Amino acid sequence: MAERDAASQWPAGTGAPGRFGLPAMVRLFAAVLISLSALSLLFVGDVASRKADDIAIEKQLVLFENVLRDRHNLLARDQLGLARWDHSVENITLKFRASYVVEEFVSSLWYDFGHERSFLVGPGGRLLMSAWQDEVDLTARDLEPGDDLKAVADLAVARHHANRTTIEGGYGQKPVPAADVHQIAAFGFAEIDGEVMLTTAMAIVPDDGEVALPKGDPVILISARPIDTEFVNEVNGQLEYSDLSFSRNGNGLLTVENIEGEVVGSFDWTLYKPGAEIWTVVVPAVVLVCGLMLVASLVLGRYISRLSIRLEDSERRNRELAHRDALSGLANRLFFDMALNEAAERLAHAPFAVIAGDLDRFKAVNDIHGHAAGDEVIRVVAARLQAAVGDSGLVGRVGGDEFVILVNAFRDRHRLSLLAQHIITSVTQPITLASGAVVDVGISLGIATAPENGASARPIMATADRALYASKEGGRGRAFFAEDLPSETQAAKDEAA
Ligand code: GH3
Ligand code: MG
Repeated sequence: MAERDAASQWPAGTGAPGRFGLPAMVRLFAAVLISLSALSLLFVGDVASRKADDIAIEKQLVLFENVLRDRHNLLARDQLGLARWDHSVENITLKFRASYVVEEFVSSLWYDFGHERSFLVGPGGRLLMSAWQDEVDLTARDLEPGDDLKAVADLAVARHHANRTTIEGGYGQKPVPAADVHQIAAFGFAEIDGEVMLTTAMAIVPDDGEVALPKGDPVILISARPIDTEFVNEVNGQLEYSDLSFSRNGNGLLTVENIEGEVVGSFDWTLYKPGAEIWTVVVPAVVLVCGLMLVASLVLGRYISRLSIRLEDSERRNRELAHRDALSGLANRLFFDMALNEAAERLAHAPFAVIAGDLDRFKAVNDIHGHAAGDEVIRVVAARLQAAVGDSGLVGRVGGDEFVILVNAFRDRHRLSLLAQHIITSVTQPITLASGAVVDVGISLGIATAPENGASARPIMATADRALYASKEGGRGRAFFAEDLPSETQAAKDEAA
């Protein structure tokens, strides 16, 4: 009890050390490491999923554009047999025969190839024929400049002129294989009768050269397929995009423009984004890695924490042993001097008092009862001093039967006097030794206060010792205040300070 009280009086920094140094750092380091690992894995996952999504989206768009190009090519290849044929030149370009157009030409486009709409546009943008399936309208009229049909026809005229050849009796066209039909055909989207259609156009030209085209522009055959549900379903047969649709607004994923570059509608579908699948791998990986690191750091942290606590405990024990008087358990001279120096440094904020004490008639105990009995008395006196001082200060043993008390709870003469009397009364009580013998010792005290009796440890201590000496001189078993020392002694004290 007494020893614990003594320890509680020790200055800050000398008691039990903090236990949050190394383990706390290990925990912090582990937390930072785990967070960084998790963040970097999530970052990689995020980059990978975004990249995967970007690539997938780009591929889907490219694939769709390819399918549309295939559709155009197919439409053009269907046209090729009828448009590149001497017979068509004879019956349309050289002499427009309605019976041929209706019964053979349009009929073949619709029944053989399923071209829903077909048109013939003559030189100068004059519409010669328009057909809806096999229904033919032969009313001729000039196409308006902004008409999409005219734009497609004009492009086909330009293609023809780029491939035009001179043959006997007029003009022909460079033969191109079906695979290269885009060289002579014009592809585009057009708005016809209020509906957006996939269109191809090409010039009606001779094949065997038995007939030749006259000077000027050729007649253009235009085939068109409306972009309706049937078309969308047909296209999606190849692609299997989810929710593929076509609408007249341009908000979809792939916008559709007419020959003049005006947006006439857009295709839209629910994009396949493989990025989400990457997360199904990344998230468990992050959880696993972080979990493993957490377990590893917990095991390591626990080990380091135990090690650190053992080291700190051992260090604390050693420090206490180095600062404790082995016989009495009180602070030893080394520790008491440290505490006194610290108190002197804080003097301006916290004045204090020092009580020097020396047992009276102690030598006789040794002489009569032996050294061990003397030791026993020292232990009992130490406990009594500790109990008397309590939380008011630090009690130390600094010599054989010399004790010293640093009082920092108060320093007024009245309370110091009461404490001194309490100490004297307590120590003077008879002591029953283990042998059964009863001994009596007393104690003399010398009291100095700071800063009145000195501003640093040495002069304060010296003054307290002089007061103690005066107490011994005065008859023992009493307390003497340094302020009551004769004036010459006081002068010497001032000099020492
Ligand atoms: P005074 O009243 O003048 O103080 O006389 P005293 O009998 O108390 O004797 P003094 O203080 O001059 O001497 C103290 C004695 O304490 C001297 C020494 O033999 C003894 N002593 C010193 N250290 C120890 C110790 O550790 N154990 C024991 N048993 N005795 C010690
Ligand atoms: Mg003594």
